[in-house]
Amino acid sequence: MFNTGTVVKVILPNVVNSGYDYRLMSDADLGNFVRVTVMNRPYIGIIYGIGDSNLPPEKIKNISEVFPYKLDVATLQWIQKMSEWTLMALGGVLRLILNVPDAFNPPRTEQLYSYDADAAGAKMTPRRQMVSDAFELNGNEPMSASDIQNIARVGLAVVKSMIAQGMLIPTVVRPRAQSFAYKYSDIGNIELNAEQRTAADKIGQDIARGGFSVNVLDGITGSGKTQVYFDSVWRAYSAGRSVLLMMPEIALTAQFMKRFESRFGAPPVVWHSNLTAARRRDIWRGVMTGEIRIVVGTRSALFLPWQNLGLIVIDEEHDSSYKQEDMGNYHGRDMAILRAKLANIPVVLASATPSEETMHNIELGRFGHLVLRSRYGGAEMPTIETIDLREHRPDEYTIKSETEDKRTGALSPLLCSEIQATLEKHQQVMLFINRRGFAPIVQCKKCGWVSTCPDCSVGMTYHKKLGKLLCHICGRMMTLPNVCPDCGGDISMRGAGLEKIEEEVLARFTNARTALVSSDTMMSHGALERLVTKMERGEIDIVIGTQILAKGHHFPNLTLVGVVDADMGLFGTDFRAAEHTFQQLFQVAGRAGRGQNPGRVLLQTYQPSHPVLMAICAGNRDEFLHNDMVARAAAKMPPFGQLIALIIESKKENTLKKFCDELAHAKPNTNGVRIMGPVMAQIYQVRGLFRMRFLVAGDEKALLQPLVELWLSRVQAPANVRLKIDVNPQSFM
Ligand code: ADP
Ligand code: ZN
Ligand code: ZN
Repeated sequence: MFNTGTVVKVILPNVVNSGYDYRLMSDADLGNFVRVTVMNRPYIGIIYGIGDSNLPPEKIKNISEVFPYKLDVATLQWIQKMSEWTLMALGGVLRLILNVPDAFNPPRTEQLYSYDADAAGAKMTPRRQMVSDAFELNGNEPMSASDIQNIARVGLAVVKSMIAQGMLIPTVVRPRAQSFAYKYSDIGNIELNAEQRTAADKIGQDIARGGFSVNVLDGITGSGKTQVYFDSVWRAYSAGRSVLLMMPEIALTAQFMKRFESRFGAPPVVWHSNLTAARRRDIWRGVMTGEIRIVVGTRSALFLPWQNLGLIVIDEEHDSSYKQEDMGNYHGRDMAILRAKLANIPVVLASATPSEETMHNIELGRFGHLVLRSRYGGAEMPTIETIDLREHRPDEYTIKSETEDKRTGALSPLLCSEIQATLEKHQQVMLFINRRGFAPIVQCKKCGWVSTCPDCSVGMTYHKKLGKLLCHICGRMMTLPNVCPDCGGDISMRGAGLEKIEEEVLARFTNARTALVSSDTMMSHGALERLVTKMERGEIDIVIGTQILAKGHHFPNLTLVGVVDADMGLFGTDFRAAEHTFQQLFQVAGRAGRGQNPGRVLLQTYQPSHPVLMAICAGNRDEFLHNDMVARAAAKMPPFGQLIALIIESKKENTLKKFCDELAHAKPNTNGVRIMGPVMAQIYQVRGLFRMRFLVAGDEKALLQPLVELWLSRVQAPANVRLKIDVNPQSFM
């Protein structure tokens, strides 16, 4: 407790802020939220300790307001540790928490609109559908015009035309703070089977005993991990604690919400990046006041102002979406474990393919290992086989058009006959290809010119539905030239993306009902939900998708999964390529045969003897993991070593090179730590910025962060150069 008149240190949510001193005008506690002014503008910050600036008293400003809410001591320690680990300033970490600017203001008055699907005479268009989806995503609560634009990703013109035609109706002016006083109860009447019960009881004991623990719920897809961690959620919640359930965004499906509701009697509070400003505010405040005690959300839900947090569950713990790369660089899973350790609470990690970092921690005895070996209800795991494309070359296919064009196919005759057989049984097929658009390479047949993005050093992908070339890095669109801009030669499309596979499927299976699923076609959750419903009703025969479909969904009648290009990703330069390919193929395979009928998975490849594919087919996950980890240990790569990447970017290539030379000269010399670089980043240019990288590598015990701080203290980056520190990098582009 600090008394009135005390000078305290206040941290502000700003990337460079490490605290300013202010004087208390009333009593307050460590961690209290306060309002202060900087350059006459109001800010919210937190009291972080006793002031230490030695400023003369007359220079110290007063705190304008102390709010009756605070972060607990464990959370403050977490902010400190996270700042030390990620090398973000304290204010940079706080900014991840205080990211709802309006949280402490009374709700703003603004004009809201509700959506009327049946407005007379109004025509539905794709953009209006996106608006409709945005409403659905937010529980059909009224929304402001700016929320509609942000969430639906449409322009003001769309909103205005919908208002004019009565599809958007002006309603309440002042947003009503929502009440979240859900009463959950364990109404699911779920009987766990023996394996599930053993796992649930072990976690239950850790929850009852209290203190820090990490249990890994390692179970094949369909084994009932969700039901087990629901049991844990209930135990912590009914003991009066708050519970955070983290998931990748694409796993936050309506199917999941329904399961939650049928187990606990009320839907969960969901936190993700597409909420209205008003809803964000309501949830943030609800968590702060303790009114909300269960949140299901993406990685950023970890930064809600939790009170009395008692359990963190991380589903799909291996998923790369837990790593945030811009606006603060952190790994959501690792930071959650750190938080739990400081708060002395249990963590549950769930996955069918735990990361090697997690497996390593299991081997070291730091994490408990709870294994679910069989699918619930006796459904068999699918059989997984390769198709050797060297033997089974895809035939050409003919497009039904005036020209009867013949095109090189991507589906081998063997896969095609399996698709045919599945369709005849009235079962469903999923084709997986992790490449959006129609053709990834657009090239001149005569001089070899390749269409590339002017702002990024990558090729432009041809998107047929858009009728445009699209850069997958920056989103720039360009028209497809009729002839080569360099020599006037003919243009050819090379490689196959999602849209080309659809063209081939339609040409070969003329009666099949198909659907495409990718981030292009599934801009909104609503669109994805409609597709899921159609799949469940059997209105789709062949679904063709990127990894968006690989998670969370349960389609009992889906019995054949075809992976069009299993080699993709096997030969990445990144040391996690094998692991990620294994995880992804395993996830995709897990979609098949979840109901009565057994499933079959076919992987098309030119490398059927590649260890990753052999391991997948043999169902030998543990052997694969073991071999890959031995290789990593030999190379001292994580988790057997540590990495910190430095990414230096500038619009001016010369300045960039010069600064990198300076950095290279300033490299500290330390035994057991290697600093590699500078090298040009794999994608050298992004949005017009040139990019260079350094990589700092050390063994498991090395203290890399202080070394990097020392190094950077020796140089001064010019104003037009941006330096990013990525601790434990996941992406090496
Ligand atoms: P996972 O999360 O491991 O992929 P799920 O939790 O989705 O597995 O379970 C697969 C299916 O089996 C779901 O439809 C789920 O409702 C059902 N299921 C799992 N365990 C039980 C149980 N103990 N009682 C009833 N249904 C269960
Ligand atoms: Zn040319
Ligand atoms: Zn680009």
